[in-house]
Amino acid sequence: MGSTTRPIKIAIIGGGIAGLALAAGLTKKPHLDVHVYEAVPEYKDVGAGLALHLNAIKAMALIGPEIRKTYFDKATTMAEEEEQEMSTEVILAQGPHAGELVAELGRAKGRKSVSRADLLAGLLELVPRDRVTFGKKLARIWETRDGDARVHIEFRDGTQAHVDCLLGAEGIHSVVRSYLLGADHPATAPKNHDRWQVYRTLVSADEARKQINEKWTRTVPILLGPRGHINCIPLNKGARLSAGVAVRGAVLDDGGNAKPLDPSLYSDYTEDAQRIVRMVAKDTSASWSVSDHDHAPFYHRGRIAMMGDAAHASLPFAGNGAAQALEDAAVLDHLFGRVKQPSQIEAALVAYDHVRRPRSQAVVNLARAFGRVYAYAEDGMHEDPEKMKSFFAGAAVFTNEADLKKQNDDAMEMYESCVRGRSRGSSNVPVSQRHV
Ligand code: FAD
Repeated sequence: MGSTTRPIKIAIIGGGIAGLALAAGLTKKPHLDVHVYEAVPEYKDVGAGLALHLNAIKAMALIGPEIRKTYFDKATTMAEEEEQEMSTEVILAQGPHAGELVAELGRAKGRKSVSRADLLAGLLELVPRDRVTFGKKLARIWETRDGDARVHIEFRDGTQAHVDCLLGAEGIHSVVRSYLLGADHPATAPKNHDRWQVYRTLVSADEARKQINEKWTRTVPILLGPRGHINCIPLNKGARLSAGVAVRGAVLDDGGNAKPLDPSLYSDYTEDAQRIVRMVAKDTSASWSVSDHDHAPFYHRGRIAMMGDAAHASLPFAGNGAAQALEDAAVLDHLFGRVKQPSQIEAALVAYDHVRRPRSQAVVNLARAFGRVYAYAEDGMHEDPEKMKSFFAGAAVFTNEADLKKQNDDAMEMYESCVRGRSRGSSNVPVSQRHV
């Protein structure tokens, strides 16, 4: 049972960073027949910017040097000189230590940021055109126990596909997550436990330079205070600026919507910070609300798994959501290099879950902690900048300096052990991960 000479059919739902990065790796493997189904008819540039930390770069390199290169081709160098060291500067903007630098996140030579739309366009070029279909919104999933392809999917337009393996990479409102956990599971729907509201504007860099310290149009500052932290990120090779104020415990109006951003509440912030708040308050049409996932008890069942934000959406404050999506892709790409028969898919997904769930969920927790620290809400930490510095230093070690080659190796070891267990007729799947 399960042996086949035909390629293994894999459907990836969602052509975001997770889905496309994985597809760029998997479509190079001739024993796999991979197809990406993306809901939108075409990508829209909503001006979202990402600063990818070192673990993201390492994950891209593990999938393939061309993925890493795409990122570097599309990204903006924050410094004027390619060789200049740059970082995300975290600075206290309110209180007795205002002006103090408490972290330099992601310090690197030639540090860059990238527009999400630019990165997606670059990744798309790495996937053969006939392997991606736009305008295909997943609506329904069902499984059969026998037959050739046992996982079945139906799209909003009524068309269907029948595959050996389904990977849900369709973001925070994932249909695959809802199918795996159950629509009523407490961890299925996204949460905004701390009532975060991100007010955001998108302006040309020229316009921004008229209104704020021009230094913040070239770097990625995070200016902290109790009524909101302020963040700027250059986009489109420095031509545009995304600037935002993230407020914890936002005040809502009678309709349940966050009240408009009021610059007068920031009069005790540093002048630089106040100027950015005033600029943002003029036009907050690019705003979005943020939420994350409570921890899923598993990331896969049988031949179906979730990855990226579908599996572990996090608040954006640790700047590591896309990086975690890329780590997922690196591990799955490595494992599926070895999966030659449909009967081996489950072992690969067990191994993926085994290495990726603890780490990605720790990052969800970390991002929540970042949010509290940024909002001066973590045990008086803002009163002692040294404590803040050590918090950020520890976080950077955990995210950026992780040994991702070892993560891939650990996953492969787990996979081999599961496959050996199966061939001996025993299940070698850890009890906590058996759910069928
Ligand atoms: P998504 O990017 O959400 O992609 C999912 C795709 O699936 C979309 O294209 C969507 O159209 C499609 N889709 C949805 N539903 C369906 C369906 N039913 N059928 C088919 N397709 C579907 N991360 C970092 O590493 N660094 C940062 O600096 C950073 N900054 C951030 C700032 C903000 C304000 C936010 C909100 C997030 C930030 N992140 C950052 C997080 C990062 O953007 C996400 O973690 C990352 O985009 C997740 O990628 P994904 O592919 O899993 O999901």
